[in-house]
Amino acid sequence: MLFSKVELLDGEKHKNLKWSCLKASCPQSCCLVPDRTFVVLEEVVGLSRHFPVVINIETDDKGKDERLLCAYFRLKEDKGGCVYLKNGEGCLLEGEKPYTCRQYPFFIKGGYLALDLTCPGFSESEGKALWEGQFVSTYFEKEFYAYSLKLEEGKAQTEAFLELLFSLDLIVGGKISYENVEVSFNMVDEKRLSRLPKSDLEELFHRGYMQIIYAHLNSLQNWERLIKRFLFGPTPIF
Ligand code: SF4
Ligand code: SF4
Repeated sequence: MLFSKVELLDGEKHKNLKWSCLKASCPQSCCLVPDRTFVVLEEVVGLSRHFPVVINIETDDKGKDERLLCAYFRLKEDKGGCVYLKNGEGCLLEGEKPYTCRQYPFFIKGGYLALDLTCPGFSESEGKALWEGQFVSTYFEKEFYAYSLKLEEGKAQTEAFLELLFSLDLIVGGKISYENVEVSFNMVDEKRLSRLPKSDLEELFHRGYMQIIYAHLNSLQNWERLIKRFLFGPTPIF
């Protein structure tokens, strides 16, 4: 299970550790496990081209409800992994994948750098060394932890966005059906949006939220891609 062996990065304990992604030969590809990921506001426009990006209310580890923006990789019932995972090749999105994918198996936990040692890419014999002297290697800093920082920095902005949408009563339940499959999710209601007082609309424009809202609404058409892959198996995406 992913994240069942998390450790804070430790200069002594992990001093000889190396990492490389096993890609197609990985026995537990991280792209097979989750059906979704949380995303931050600045990712929504880019990700809306590839994934449904919706509003979830989920329970955190302390039993508290939290509002999240989530991109879906696959339907829950679909055991084939993310729709962008190509057999034998790995991720088809490369530079356009979500920040959570880009940072993995590294991330920030409680303000500290952390590792998910369930990833079989860690070893003391193969891959790139995690350290350059007493500092984290610039490769890991630029290619992985930079995205962990973006996720940390983007959380407050994303919460403020969702807070405003809920306070304006714009969120409703939505459904998409294709063949015999139906998917439910939360979305912005366009009718309620259009009926908002001018001052609220101006605030949404002023904060740059309108572009995000329409990216979210356009992203809903990507549910069909996920449903088709569940019903008919992999098809060429590009
Ligand atoms: S990051 Fe780790 S778990 Fe994911 S595919 Fe690479 S080696 Fe496997
Ligand atoms: S977007 Fe790419 S890296 Fe992320 S889960 Fe999908 S295939 Fe894996």
